[in-house]
Amino acid sequence: MNRARLFVISAPSGCGKGTLLAKAFQNRDVYYSVSYTTREKRKGEEEGVNYFYVNRKQFEKMIDDRDFLEYARYVDNYYGTPKIPVFEHLARGTDVILEIDTVGAFQVKQSYRDAVLVFVLPPSVGELMRRLQKRGTESKGEIDKRLLMARREITKAYKYDYVILNDDLDQAVEDLLCVVDAARAENNDAFRHSLESDDAIKLIEKVIINA
Ligand code: 5GP
Repeated sequence: MNRARLFVISAPSGCGKGTLLAKAFQNRDVYYSVSYTTREKRKGEEEGVNYFYVNRKQFEKMIDDRDFLEYARYVDNYYGTPKIPVFEHLARGTDVILEIDTVGAFQVKQSYRDAVLVFVLPPSVGELMRRLQKRGTESKGEIDKRLLMARREITKAYKYDYVILNDDLDQAVEDLLCVVDAARAENNDAFRHSLESDDAIKLIEKVIINA
């Protein structure tokens, strides 16, 4: 049996990451980590499914108690990955998926070198804005903050082990599964090499510039 792997997936808010992950892992035995957050529950979200919703005092107590594998502030709220379920599942041989921001992703990589970091790029920042506006779950001010954050996050994508463009959903699913299977086979070098190439950097620049 292959060793279980920890996959860290980052994507700007509104990038279609939820649909991509649901489709990619629908028939796979993986554990999705459920994070804690201080942000308000959105319409349609469920406690313990999308997040565990806590107040700032509760979150800060968890920080003090060292309950998190990583945590970060994103826009105006805290988000954190509880440590115990992640390690329990890895120990049982189940791959674990974390959907977290870039700050958290680099923290995980520091403490767990084996983690596989995957960044999902939107087709362009302009498209991201249109998707966030269409989703309609945030105010204009919140959308502006998230777009600013998205630009910052995209510029860090080149530090990830893999970068996937979510332009065509089926292609993005195929690319993600290819990454997962390569990591499981412990055959990462070919991919790493391709990411260090100029192509990845050019792709990232194009996503930021294109409206
Ligand atoms: P949203 O509010 O849209 O659900 O999430 C905002 C951002 O927080 C997204 O980039 C998401 O990936 C990130 N995020 C969600 N959970 C965690 C977590 O546990 N830790 C960190 N560092 N980021 C998280």
